[in-house]
Amino acid sequence: MTASPKTKINTTFVSIDGTTGTRSKLDDFRGVRARIFARLQAIDDASANRLVIPGVNAYNQGEYEDALSHFLNSITEVPEFEEELRSHINVCKRVMHTVLSPLDIGYRDACSRRSRLPFFIKWFKQAPPLKLRCKYCGHFTAYLDPNEGLAYLGENNCETCERGYPMPDFAWDGIDGQAYIYYRNSVTEKEFYEEFETRFDVEVDHRVFLASSRA
Ligand SMILES: [Zn+2]
Repeated sequence: MTASPKTKINTTFVSIDGTTGTRSKLDDFRGVRARIFARLQAIDDASANRLVIPGVNAYNQGEYEDALSHFLNSITEVPEFEEELRSHINVCKRVMHTVLSPLDIGYRDACSRRSRLPFFIKWFKQAPPLKLRCKYCGHFTAYLDPNEGLAYLGENNCETCERGYPMPDFAWDGIDGQAYIYYRNSVTEKEFYEEFETRFDVEVDHRVFLASSRA
């Protein structure tokens, strides 16, 4: 993939009915998921169904390698998908570059040992708690619903890197989801804001926006 010009992000968004809203407000939160799927559908409905959706499912289950191969196939066949999938492709690559720790390997092995047990033994053996690889540091961490708990209160953070909202989520990790978090100032770590500004051309800095929305 060649370097693409930065996508411009301003403080407003266009909802699926064509109206304009302000980022970080309740109608932005409610429309994040609908907007990314509507845009994929508008680019190429049939290809979005056939190529992108299997990648979305793999991504949301933390199967980054599988997701990456679906996303790369999607943009090979339909290059217009690239802008929408760029963030997810970067996350998949980042996680896949993480070297698993002994704890990660122990967890993965416990899951695979359990999956090989006959079903009647599985009945009596407790499954290991669900963990997925954190989308930031790539290490396994306890599953947390991306829509629950406040990261700035430590309620939705990775056990290893402590970054907020560590679970992969196709809608939240897309352009609108990231822009909501940016303008909402939803996470405390400065890396998020630096990465966002590296990826997107922001019209208004998130701190300026926060100050103006409080005025
Ligand atoms: Zn992490």
